[in-house]
Amino acid sequence: QCIIACPTGSLTAREDIDDVWKVLNDPTKHVIAQTAPSIQVTIGEDFNMPVGTMVRGKLVTALRRLGFDKVFATDVTADLTIMEEASELKERVTEHPEKLPLLSSCCPAWVKFAEHFYPDMLHNLSTCKSPHEMCGALTKTWYAKKYNIDPDSIVNVAIMPCTAKKFEAARPEMTSDGYRNVDYVLTTRELSRMIRSVGIHFGSLPDSGYDEPFNQFSSAGTIFGATGGVLEAAVRTAHYFITGEEIGVPEYEEARGQKGLKYGKVTFGDTTLRIAIAHGTGNAKKALTRHLSGEKPFDYMEVMACPGGCVGGGGQPILGGKDHKKISLDYRHNRADTLYNIDKDSKIRKSYENPVMKQIYDEFLGEPLSNTSKKYLHTTYIKRGKYPYLDKEVKVE
Ligand code: SF4
Repeated sequence: QCIIACPTGSLTAREDIDDVWKVLNDPTKHVIAQTAPSIQVTIGEDFNMPVGTMVRGKLVTALRRLGFDKVFATDVTADLTIMEEASELKERVTEHPEKLPLLSSCCPAWVKFAEHFYPDMLHNLSTCKSPHEMCGALTKTWYAKKYNIDPDSIVNVAIMPCTAKKFEAARPEMTSDGYRNVDYVLTTRELSRMIRSVGIHFGSLPDSGYDEPFNQFSSAGTIFGATGGVLEAAVRTAHYFITGEEIGVPEYEEARGQKGLKYGKVTFGDTTLRIAIAHGTGNAKKALTRHLSGEKPFDYMEVMACPGGCVGGGGQPILGGKDHKKISLDYRHNRADTLYNIDKDSKIRKSYENPVMKQIYDEFLGEPLSNTSKKYLHTTYIKRGKYPYLDKEVKVE
């Protein structure tokens, strides 16, 4: 039962607070925090702020006061994920239609669910690592070289919405040049406990900004935190990659909202793609059953395992005591609304317009899907078989 509710076994996940304090107190370590897009609209709730309050600047200040040497936005590498995933979509649409549908891969709980229950569809999963793994890989390679820092000394701590990210960070595939991409994952609630334990009054903190070079991002990277956000962000960039045409930013209403399974269509020039968005593994299973039977096929699907996507992740603040379940739809909605409002007011709303992307590709990766990109930003999956799930493991290249 647990593997269906949370395929990464988050109910028994370990805590990393003590280990993170140790590295923060070690002067030989260069300790980096990276924060997932959803954390900026949830952590305030742990400090009695209204649901969905945007506290990006206070979050960064709190991490500096805890002793982190650098604070990076995972939103930046969410943009990078889109650069790579939109390129994969383009490649499959224009050269390899037999490889459709493309399935998103940024939710590790969904990935593991697919490894267990849809092992014959793993070639449909995007090979992109999730954004925090891309950030980890770049800090130990490009960033270390650029700023002349010994990668041995770098410790990457990811502040994430769920414990599934702890499982993902520990996967053997998640290394670069022999270094683990992400060393520790703290959930939002774990970080709140660290902040409270040293007496920081979160609500009174001044705002501050993220550190270079992971400090500029498009709001396409930010809406990753809500169900439908990854697909909406990918479509904005895929349109440009496939047609070469600049368009405005359509409010893609079909992708938004808390309905468990959404369908729609997107058109890129002469090409129309059928899309699906599922949150909750039950809805993913429903969509795949319909797809495989031919009842409702699609070409591109986003799946997030948690209800509402990462804003409803298992490591986020828990509100409402015994009424938690009753009010959860409202608070997921409020958190997602804040992310979409950030997007509406943003000057950069497409990942390929983020100037940091140009810098990373010019200085290190070359271009999306280059050999260097594939080496550091892409991954492989494992056919695990059904429960008992460790009986068969076959690596899928
Ligand atoms: Fe983690 Fe849930 Fe987001 Fe998946 S949807 S990455 S399990 S918080």
